[in-house]
Amino acid sequence: MLDVIVAGAGPAGSYASYRLASMGYSVLNLEEHREIGRPVECTGVVTSRVFGYVKSSAVANRVRGANVFFPGNREMHIEKSEETTVIYRDSFDRDVSAMAISAGADVRLDSRITEVKVAGDSVHIKYRHEGNLLEAASSMIVGADGANSVVRKSLYGSRPSRIVSTYQVDSAVRLPDQESVNVYLGSESSHGFFAWAVPTGDITRIGLGTIGPGARDLFSRLQKRFPEGRILSVTGGPIPIAYLSRTSGPRSLLVGDAAGIVKPLTGGGIYTGIVSAHHAASAINEAFQNQNFSANFLSRYERYWKSQLGRELWMDGIVQRVFAGLSDSSLSRIYSMLSSPDVVHMINSLGDIDYPSRLVIRMLIRHPAILMNFFRNRVVAGSADA
Ligand SMILES: Cc1cc2nc3c(=O)[nH]c(=O)nc-3n(C[C@H](O)[C@H](O)[C@H](O)COP(=O)(O)OP(=O)(O)OC[C@H]3O[C@@H](n4cnc5c(N)ncnc54)[C@H](O)[C@@H]3O)c2cc1C
Repeated sequence: MLDVIVAGAGPAGSYASYRLASMGYSVLNLEEHREIGRPVECTGVVTSRVFGYVKSSAVANRVRGANVFFPGNREMHIEKSEETTVIYRDSFDRDVSAMAISAGADVRLDSRITEVKVAGDSVHIKYRHEGNLLEAASSMIVGADGANSVVRKSLYGSRPSRIVSTYQVDSAVRLPDQESVNVYLGSESSHGFFAWAVPTGDITRIGLGTIGPGARDLFSRLQKRFPEGRILSVTGGPIPIAYLSRTSGPRSLLVGDAAGIVKPLTGGGIYTGIVSAHHAASAINEAFQNQNFSANFLSRYERYWKSQLGRELWMDGIVQRVFAGLSDSSLSRIYSMLSSPDVVHMINSLGDIDYPSRLVIRMLIRHPAILMNFFRNRVVAGSADA
């Protein structure tokens, strides 16, 4: 019997496989696609923290700032001293998978998991490989199989309560400012989220996220901003932006998108997925050392990942819900407050796309009028879990 089956070879699954195999465990990492990293469903914006975990040179561009467009085409520029990296996501995923393979993980492509059961002392799965239905058994399973996780559906029966729908294209258009991403706010671009244009030389990644349906229709409007752009490829997919109330169970853990461990304000999940995978491997190692695979023992995983990300994701989740309820006129009022030189200075010095709550808290303390504006709007309340 195997030690661990890891479902999915995205960044979270490959990183969990890498760490577990490095610790000496037998790891079977199953990926439904025939190629690691494809199809690409990502813009690829990450901070340097990611490269503390993964050695990768899949760099498409480096940016330093953002041009933020408010309703009425009012624009605000943010400039950071540190660079943010735009990666080639397919190459990046292959780099993480190569780390797992070098460490000894058995990575199998074209292997779609269809059934997962925990029975007695083991986990039993069925998976389709080259048309055949195969079986495998292990002591533990890690669900790293993304937003529509089969492991989650089979063993947890819940799903993240807040999902962003996306639509993104690679467009043959060159942005004049190659050092900044464009961010578009307001109902023209999105319902409750935002749109973006990220420069990578002669190709720009243009897309949007929206709460609920309608991403394709909203994109038609966004596209008018780039009349000369020719579409080279289209992608998109769901981003879960609320983590589950339970991400561990008997003989199983959920990581990354499968658990909804994603930054609610930006929809970024590469860093958070890798961090959760790191902590999942630590918890599994301790479970083997203690020969205890109970839900109670494995709940330490929740403590571990929440100690690094929990407060941030919780805070950002609240801010995201408030932001999602803002009307265009409120966004315009907020623009007037944010564009004052001292606030711009604060954003430039404290802004951090992995941990934005530090900036939000400081800004609200210094400028409580922004908070008043938020609460003039309808706040959509709800639990973090369905
Ligand atoms: C349009 C868009 C833009 C984004 N932009 C960014 C960004 O700029 N920065 C950022 O940090 N994040 C971004 N994200 C989010 C990011 O892509 C995800 O959070 C990240 O990929 C999560 O990694 P993961 O390993 O948890 O899941 P995934 O990357 O989704 O990997 C899951 C893997 O599991 C496989 N799988 C699924 N089901 C099965 C099964 N039954 N059996 C076997 N294998 C299976 C899938 O094929 C996939 O390879 C974006 C997402 C979208 C949709």
